[in-house]
Amino acid sequence: MAFFEKRERKLDDKKKPDKKKKFKRRKVCRICTNPEIAISYRDLRTLTYFVSDKGKIVSRRISGICAKHQRQLSKAIKRSRNLALMPFVVGMQ
Ligand SMILES: [Zn+2]
Repeated sequence: MAFFEKRERKLDDKKKPDKKKKFKRRKVCRICTNPEIAISYRDLRTLTYFVSDKGKIVSRRISGICAKHQRQLSKAIKRSRNLALMPFVVGMQ
């Protein structure tokens, strides 16, 4: 019956990694899911959400936004920077 014991142990070993498996949440574009958000260079509330505390535009990899909206967003942020609504850099001396 040693054979069966070995087999059981193997099954237990197989179960372990499933428990430790990291739960990966699939990122969904917030702007796609929420049609109320309109990207505009004047809408600083939404723009500041996608800008780091140093004033840099947060990458798509981190914000989880889709390519289309990232393009629109970066354009809007750059536009509002040129109009001095948003800073280019924060905390530089
Ligand atoms: Zn999107």
